[in-house]
Amino acid sequence: MSEPSIFTRILRGEIPSEIIAETENVFAIRDIAPQAPVHLLVIPKTEQYRNVVELAAGAPAILAEMVALANTLAAEHTGGDFRLVFNTGAEAGQTVFHVHAHVLGGGLPEGTLGD
Ligand code: AMP
Repeated sequence: MSEPSIFTRILRGEIPSEIIAETENVFAIRDIAPQAPVHLLVIPKTEQYRNVVELAAGAPAILAEMVALANTLAAEHTGGDFRLVFNTGAEAGQTVFHVHAHVLGGGLPEGTLGD
């Protein structure tokens, strides 16, 4: 077996981080290096899926649960509107290969998609 991912270690309490919300299969934390005024990560409790493509194929209900939790958190933290980003592959900036969604909001940086 390979080493547990950093997110699994956070979920187990082995690395300090506040779990700000959780549902049956998903939990959320604040990103340690925020790229926007609100930058949260929504993460499945299982690290079985490396990226969103694998998750959509293997456990679409967990993907839907992630989107629902992102929406709930955005209502609480950003006033409702948010950007949901899944970096997929190292060339696209993915550094942790335990699928996770970036929930970005609260005034996004200049030069990003949609500006
Ligand atoms: P990605 O680059 O899409 O794989 O996203 C990984 C994210 O995890 C980055 O935005 C990191 O800042 C974030 N991250 C890494 N370690 C931690 C940690 N200990 N607590 C919270 N966020 C983290």
